[in-house]
Amino acid sequence: MSEPQQSEALSNLLHEDRRFPPPDELAAAANVTVETYAAAEAEGEGFWAEQAKRISWAQEPTQVLDWSNPPFAKWFADGTLNAAYNCCDRHVEAGLGDRVAFHFEGEPGDTRTITYAELTTEVKKAANALLELGVKAGDRVALYLPMIPETVFAMLACARIGAPHTVVFGGFSADALASRIQDCGVEVVITADGGYRRGAPSPLKPAVDEALKSCPEVRSVVVIKRTGQETAMADGRDVWWDDIVGKQSEEHTPEAFPAEHPLYIMYTSGSTGKPKGILHTTGGYLVGCSYTQWATFDLKPETDIYWTAADIGWVTGHSYIVYGPLSNATTSILYEGTPDTPHKGRWWEIVQKYQATILYCAPTAIRTFMKWGADIPAKFDLSSLRVLGSVGEPINPEAYVWYREHIGGDKTPVVDTWWQTETGMHMISPMPGVTSGKPGAAMKAVPGVSVDVVNDEGIPVQNGEGGYLVITKPWPAMLRTLWGDDQRYVDTYWSRFEGRYFAGDGAKKDEDGDLWLLGRVDDVMNVSGHRLSTTEIESALVSHPSVAEAAVVGATDATTGQAIVAFVILRGDATNGGADQVTELRNHVAKEIGPIAKPRQIMVVEELPKTRSGKIMRRLLRDIAENRELGDVTTLTDSTVMDLIKSNLATAP
Ligand code: ATP
Ligand code: MG
Repeated sequence: MSEPQQSEALSNLLHEDRRFPPPDELAAAANVTVETYAAAEAEGEGFWAEQAKRISWAQEPTQVLDWSNPPFAKWFADGTLNAAYNCCDRHVEAGLGDRVAFHFEGEPGDTRTITYAELTTEVKKAANALLELGVKAGDRVALYLPMIPETVFAMLACARIGAPHTVVFGGFSADALASRIQDCGVEVVITADGGYRRGAPSPLKPAVDEALKSCPEVRSVVVIKRTGQETAMADGRDVWWDDIVGKQSEEHTPEAFPAEHPLYIMYTSGSTGKPKGILHTTGGYLVGCSYTQWATFDLKPETDIYWTAADIGWVTGHSYIVYGPLSNATTSILYEGTPDTPHKGRWWEIVQKYQATILYCAPTAIRTFMKWGADIPAKFDLSSLRVLGSVGEPINPEAYVWYREHIGGDKTPVVDTWWQTETGMHMISPMPGVTSGKPGAAMKAVPGVSVDVVNDEGIPVQNGEGGYLVITKPWPAMLRTLWGDDQRYVDTYWSRFEGRYFAGDGAKKDEDGDLWLLGRVDDVMNVSGHRLSTTEIESALVSHPSVAEAAVVGATDATTGQAIVAFVILRGDATNGGADQVTELRNHVAKEIGPIAKPRQIMVVEELPKTRSGKIMRRLLRDIAENRELGDVTTLTDSTVMDLIKSNLATAP
């Protein structure tokens, strides 16, 4: 099949002319200003050398980027540092020991306040425990944990002794855990008896026991007591966290590691296929997260109460719950559970209780809140919020406007942050004190970052055109390789366009040159020779008052090549998916985008298959739309969803 030119395609952007300039007060005291963009432009690598001063080095680097062996980058290569020291001890040494690092809120309502002094002590003890278990610098440690403070202690303890961690989302199955343990050669696992999920203790340890049947290399399992559930402990292999960490010395001197020492391996969410083991190293990564958390959220660590409402088992948790916030001495909220336990206002109750000033979450959460209704957040005082962030997928314009209005009191900037596990840090985002926000657009590269949109030949597209998103210069927090597979690293990211990083996402430059993300290149549909983006059609569907969520896929079609199949979840108050309503929705899309975008089929469903980061797994929906066996489902948050959808469709009229 001959592919039409990317540049002639993806050009149906929804018409959007709402603009939200920064509030005056915020702009007047903003961390990032137009001068920051100018400085980054003028200074090039010097800008990153400047940002490197945000962190504390044992040996100051004299080099910035070493790109002598592309695409294998080294940043700040002759510098040495300890990541955990940067997140803990140095703040205590600077007199901030009493500052709160985390306000922890357990799902059952238990709370803990952890200061920087306490964090430092806990991390030192945990580091000593790992040393006692024989963990050495370079050894990989797997973490399979709920959202509790010990998860942070364990990550930083690994970093402190130079043992790369690999955090596996607590919702994953034993199989998913086993394959990650095997892929990165783990010998020590840290887990918990369980965690609280939807109002009940949910066990974790049995999945570890199951996984380890196929991982004979694992010699120790450390088990944190969270729920107090009955837990089987294997003799000689398993040890309780309290027993081994509790008895350790509170003294531990951090060792300085080279900037390029591996910090962690994180597997991608698997939306497009088998997850990839992304390797991040220490110095550049820490500089990148520290700088972007400060810039994108206009962070004022003395006064802000910051909340990334995401799981630590996702890169967003690594960069913006752990390494960014802690290296900046931020006070954060850490919440263990689900947004609807014990009631649908739980998040807003937490915002009100701690007077949160910055909230960062995924569009899927925002759409869920829209579905539940604006009267729920309206019952709480959310006036402390001053910046709202979005991450994980393109935010539909309707969701952006709802978020700003009902959560942000119609005054907060919304920063839509585009980045990936691979990029380690925000790459494209509005800056809250500078950018006049457009609902649905990620706008411009973060100061210091260089991106472009190119056509099939790799030539930058004009304003008003769409194409492939590329990153044109190396950046400090970039992945260094795929764990154990340099060739796949080169092939996946650096081979499509010479000398540039291929992100795998489609994007468009609008008439002002601002960037709109259009979803995965793999998800782009080809209907009668027209290339259409799933994102735009989904946003058109969500702009209809009866639709809460939508997922669109292209299914093979004898006449049109591919046909558009949409799966929609209706809003709570909408009538239930009869033939008339489906016709109305099909016409609505045709009116918003054009007749070519009219879905062949719209299926009303109760749930959509999502990854832990809230991304819709379109490839599984494509399997359904094309009546195929389902592909890899191991990274779904809830694997029963697919059965539900199938039975739903089997009984549909
Ligand atoms: P895999 O690569 O295994 O398929 P994944 O790409 O879903 O997994 P992540 O690294 O968690 O794993 O997701 C990064 C992707 O998420 C980006 O490539 C992009 O498609 C999407 N994304 C993240 N943030 C945004 C955003 N603000 N706007 C648009 N898309 C976003
Ligand atoms: Mg990806």
